[in-house]
Amino acid sequence: MSKIKISELFYSVQGEGRYMGVPSVFLRTFGCNFTCDGFGMPRGEKSNERNQIADHIAEFKQYRDLPLVSTGCDSYASWDPRFKDLSPLLTTEAIIERIKELLPFRKWTREHLVITGGEPLLGWQRAFPDLLKHEFMQDLKEITFETNGTQRLTEDFKSYLTAWTDRADREITFSVSAKLPASGERWEDAIKPDIVCQYQQVGWTYLKFVVATEQDIYDALAATITFRDEGFTGEVYLMPVGGVESVYSLNNKNVALACMKHGLRYSDRLQVPLFKNEWGT
Ligand code: SF4
Repeated sequence: MSKIKISELFYSVQGEGRYMGVPSVFLRTFGCNFTCDGFGMPRGEKSNERNQIADHIAEFKQYRDLPLVSTGCDSYASWDPRFKDLSPLLTTEAIIERIKELLPFRKWTREHLVITGGEPLLGWQRAFPDLLKHEFMQDLKEITFETNGTQRLTEDFKSYLTAWTDRADREITFSVSAKLPASGERWEDAIKPDIVCQYQQVGWTYLKFVVATEQDIYDALAATITFRDEGFTGEVYLMPVGGVESVYSLNNKNVALACMKHGLRYSDRLQVPLFKNEWGT
C-alpha cells in the first residue's frame, strides 16, 4: 500500500484559477524543489520570515498554529524540512478515511480534488494511482494538479492519467504556477515549456503567474512567449502576489487592469479575502 506525506488535507472553496469558487478537497503533499524566498521582497533579496518561525518550531504543534507570512512562500511548512514533523506519512486508506470525513455527503458528488503542494509531482507520482483507483474514488470526476511546472510526468503516471480520463465525465487540469524571477528562483530552473507542453498532452493546462510589479508583468509576458514558442496553447492568468490581505489588496486591481491591457485572464486569491488565507483554507 502506498503512503504519501501529507501537509494538509482540507475542504474549502478553490480560490484561484479555472475552478475558482468550486468546493474542493485539497490534498497538499510535502516537499518542493524550490523555496521562492523572493516573493514580496525587493529584487535580489530573500525573505527571512520562515527562518524566524523555524527558530521557534517547538511552539507549533499543528499547522493551524503556524504564523502566516507576508514574504516568501506562503506554504513554507509544506516543504521546509524543519517543519516536516507536522506532516504525517499517511496510507491510502487513511487518506480516504479523512476525505470521507471532509465531504459533506461522505461521498463525491460534484466536489473537485485539488492535489497541491509543495510540489505534488516531485515525489508522489508513483503513489497517486493507488489513491485514485480506490473504490471510494470512482465517483470523482475532476482533479487539478497545482504544480510549479518543473516536474516531468513519468511515462507510467502519464499513461495512468490518460486512462483515467477515458471516462467521458472525467477531466484533469494542470494549474501551472511557473515561477518568475520575483520568486527568487532562476529563470532557467523555473521556466520549462517542454514539461508544461507534456502536461498539455494529458489534461487541460493553464499558466498562472504571480505578479506584483510592472517588471513582473513584463517577465510574465516574456515567459508566455517562451511557452507559446514551444507549442503551449492554454490560457494564461495573472494573479496578484499576497498571502496576507494587506499585501494582496495593494495590487489586485492593478493586476486586473494589466490583464485587460494584455488580453490575459485574471485570477483572484479568494482564500485571502474570504478566509484570510489561514491554514486549511
Ligand atoms: S514552488 Fe510553490 S510550494 Fe514550492 S516554494 Fe515556490 S511557492 Fe512554495
